[in-house]
Formats: sequence, structure tokens, C-alpha cells
Amino acid sequence: MANIEIDFDACVGCGTCAELCPNTFEIRDEKSWVTGDGADCDLAEAVDSCPTSAIIVEGIEAGGRKQV
Ligand code: SF4
Repeated sequence: MANIEIDFDACVGCGTCAELCPNTFEIRDEKSWVTGDGADCDLAEAVDSCPTSAIIVEGIEAGGRKQV
């Protein structure tokens, strides 16, 4: 299971992550909250699509490339 965190200082609540991964991110009070483990979506795409690089996923760096 991926370790997913949101940098609340950076998150602007745009909702992109919740659109890409509705079972993993939920927007509450204009911030994204992690509600799932990202198993059924492309976490790398979500990380890459966040405009403020607020999604921190162990093993995936900004830019969406998976580290090996
Ligand atoms: S895509 Fe980034 S800025 Fe937008 S809601 Fe998600 S974590 Fe926040």
C-alpha cells in the first residue's frame, strides 16, 4: 500500500486529485484529504497533475516518474 500524504500548506483545493482518484482523495474545507490507498487509480498521474506538488507519495517523485 502506498504511503500518501498531502501538504496542507501547499494544497489549494483545486479538486484535480479527487477527479483523478475519487476513491483516494476527497476535498473537504478546500483541502484534499486521503481517504483511500490509491490502489484503483494512477497515483503518478495525480502527483504529476497537482498544480502545487502537494501530493507526496512514497516512491513517486513530482513529475510522475516512478522510482525504482
Ligand atoms: S490536486 Fe493538489 S492542490 Fe489540487 S486538491 Fe489535490 S492536493 Fe490539493
